[in-house]
Amino acid sequence: MADDYELENLICPECNHHGTESTRCHWCGGDGCFDTSDEDFLIEGSQYEPCEECKGTGILRHCPECGEDLSGRNVIDPDELYDLH
Ligand SMILES: [Zn+2]
Ligand SMILES: [Zn+2]
Repeated sequence: MADDYELENLICPECNHHGTESTRCHWCGGDGCFDTSDEDFLIEGSQYEPCEECKGTGILRHCPECGEDLSGRNVIDPDELYDLH
C-alpha cells in the first residue's frame, strides 16, 4: 500500500524547493489527534491527544528535494511572496 502523495504549490523553507508533497496522515487518519477516551485514564477537559506525526494538522508534508519533514511547519506560499512586492 503506497502513500498517495499530492504535489502542492508551496516552497520548502529549508532549501527553497518549489513543490512540496503531502498526504493525509495515516497515523491519525487525518484527524490530527487520537481519541483516547477508550483508555483507562482520563485527561481532564480533553479526550484527545494531538498526533505527533503530523503535529496535529492531519496532513503529512515533506520536501521531495531535501527530504525535510515539513508537517506542521511554516511552508512558504508563493502567492503570498508576490503580494509583498
Ligand atoms: Zn496525524
Ligand atoms: Zn527542501
